[in-house]
Amino acid sequence: MDDKKNNKKDSALHVNPGVEQPSSVNEQFLQHLPKSKNNVLDLNTYIEGIKAGNISILSRAITLIESSLSAHQEMAQAIIEACLPLSGKSIRIGISGVPGAGKSTFIESFGEYLCSQGKRLAVLAIDPSSERSKGSILGDKTRMEKLSVHKNAYIRPSPSAGTLGGVARKTRESIILCEAAGFDTIFIETVGVGQSETAAKSMVDFFMVLMLAGAGDELQGIKRGIMEMADALLINKADGDNLKKAEIAAREYKNALHYFAPAESNWETKVKICSALTGFNIDKVWEMIQEFAAFSKESGFFTVNRAKQEKKRMHQSIAEKLQSSFYGNPEIKKTIATYEKQIDTATINPYKAAQEIFSLYLSLQKK
Ligand code: GDP
Repeated sequence: MDDKKNNKKDSALHVNPGVEQPSSVNEQFLQHLPKSKNNVLDLNTYIEGIKAGNISILSRAITLIESSLSAHQEMAQAIIEACLPLSGKSIRIGISGVPGAGKSTFIESFGEYLCSQGKRLAVLAIDPSSERSKGSILGDKTRMEKLSVHKNAYIRPSPSAGTLGGVARKTRESIILCEAAGFDTIFIETVGVGQSETAAKSMVDFFMVLMLAGAGDELQGIKRGIMEMADALLINKADGDNLKKAEIAAREYKNALHYFAPAESNWETKVKICSALTGFNIDKVWEMIQEFAAFSKESGFFTVNRAKQEKKRMHQSIAEKLQSSFYGNPEIKKTIATYEKQIDTATINPYKAAQEIFSLYLSLQKK
């Protein structure tokens, strides 16, 4: 709007020119990107870019993984395929904890420590709440400001579309790309509510849960299932007046863990106190993870566990393909609609209906 002409300067509707915001993407990267068609580069550009550790291309490839367009999906699959031989060399660490436990503060502090040790760190997230509530628990605040601009770190928010299964698959595929891009340490962050920890656990080597002391609910506040899953419990915020409480909580958790069956890895779940704010014991957390890696590689569990995860992935992938082949079949869609009407009028029972539809599906496959 031309303010002079309309003399709107004193109007409440007058918009002052804002401060120019810096580009969110490093301009240097953009200059080196080849021209793209419909925002999609060619396969080789993605693969070579990822191999060269080009963060901008890595980000764009992950965007394809997260896209639901079938052309994007096809390209994403080809990229994943090419990256697979280069993947697998990192340590994958799951970090969970209820909102407020200090996950982002911890990841910032721990991540900076690792980067200072020469590690290259990728932080990915599983936050299915982002689809349900249209607001993500893990992403709705400015998080990890220092880490996000560190040259050795890459932070990717949780993919937001779809079910937990879909979100988890995208995160798993992103791990492959990050590893191919040379990231040797991968964090999978997840919220300590719902099923997302199980999904995170199934894609990491080491799983830790951040806890809070002193709420008087040391043992009831946390689900037994999460404690069983954890390779380490970290009592965070062990600083100032809270230090004593954290020490007491650590003792209680250690005692409680005695009643649990040993983990498949034979690794004894560790309980540590730390402070993401002051950095207290952050180095000890890394020592512990290295100890676990050495222990589980020595016993063979590290490799066995990864193979187990891969097998699970194969079964999940088969299930997804079967589902989409079944429900995507037009003949089946029509038949399902017919049977649903019969169920409405109670003229067929659901088991018989399922059996008949499934038989039809099998006969369609033979044609
Ligand atoms: P998240 O929701 O799990 O990601 O938790 P945040 O990292 O956002 O932390 C929640 C609040 O706890 C923030 O106000 C942090 O400053 C604070 N906090 C996180 N870690 C510590 C810590 O080690 N000590 C203390 N005193 N406060 C902390």
